[in-house]
Amino acid sequence: MAGCLFCQIVSGDIEAAVVHQGESTLAFRDINPQAPVHVLVIPTEHLTNAGELTRDHADLLAEMVATAQWVAAAEGIDQSGYRLVMNVGADGGQTVGHLHLHVLGGRPMTWPPG
Ligand code: 5GP
Ligand code: ZN
Repeated sequence: MAGCLFCQIVSGDIEAAVVHQGESTLAFRDINPQAPVHVLVIPTEHLTNAGELTRDHADLLAEMVATAQWVAAAEGIDQSGYRLVMNVGADGGQTVGHLHLHVLGGRPMTWPPG
């Protein structure tokens, strides 16, 4: 989608520290990490956020979670634990309008998230 930051990362027009490229997903390091491990898993097709997901996206969502599991294992946090987050819309704290799953770990997480 023209003008979308993460679509530009998918196309290679904007650089990112890619850690995994799947069939329909891309995982790269967050530019402003909130934890020792902070990776974003995105679909390579443009979807704005989880509010657009339907049952037709079941395989895509499963691949995103599988990618997050792969990232957690590769980063050595699969046993210590990690947090998966999808912010949806303004009050959800979403700042980039391309669906993404945050993979956060490497430190104990607190709750509530704020
Ligand atoms: P959101 O707030 O929408 O849930 O998360 C967007 C995330 O994208 C933020 O954690 C932010 O640091 C990250 N981000 C914003 N711009 C860039 C960028 O150009 N490159 C990378 N790798 N991450 C970005
Ligand atoms: Zn996009």
